[in-house]
Amino acid sequence: MAATRTFSIIKPDATRRNLTGAVTAKLEEAGLRVVASKRIQMTREQAEGFYGVHRERPFFNDLVSFMISGPVVVQVLEGENAVLRNREIMGATNPSDAADGTIRKLFAESIEANSVHGSDSDENAAIEIAYFFTPEELVG
Ligand code: GDP
Repeated sequence: MAATRTFSIIKPDATRRNLTGAVTAKLEEAGLRVVASKRIQMTREQAEGFYGVHRERPFFNDLVSFMISGPVVVQVLEGENAVLRNREIMGATNPSDAADGTIRKLFAESIEANSVHGSDSDENAAIEIAYFFTPEELVG
């Protein structure tokens, strides 16, 4: 099966605790390759646009404030079935529901400060990658 791509964010709770390497190691151990990566400080407008689908949810403003509370690392991951593989290694949204060995079980602080984002479909992966990266930045 051909390799596909997904989009990942190492969230501010993880960068603050110096877990960028630890999280990336879990992604790599899961068979995913980091084909693009950069540490950025998101603007409020960028975060609101990225999470636009959640605009009507009660936690939207808190989520946006959290995502701009410190730097994040945006990454493009490549591998077989990358979207699904990444969702598996991330674990459930709420760390108390996440399976043992997953990134969120190991590292997340709460349902909001849950250390990582990962695209939920190939279609959204393409949209999210294009939101943060130019084609030239995807160096393989
Ligand atoms: P994901 O795909 O597992 O990241 O989950 P969702 O797409 O449902 O939610 C997006 C992000 O919003 C999550 O990763 C959390 O950071 C945050 N979030 C989700 N549910 C809640 C909630 O009930 N309360 C708060 N404060 N944040 C939430």
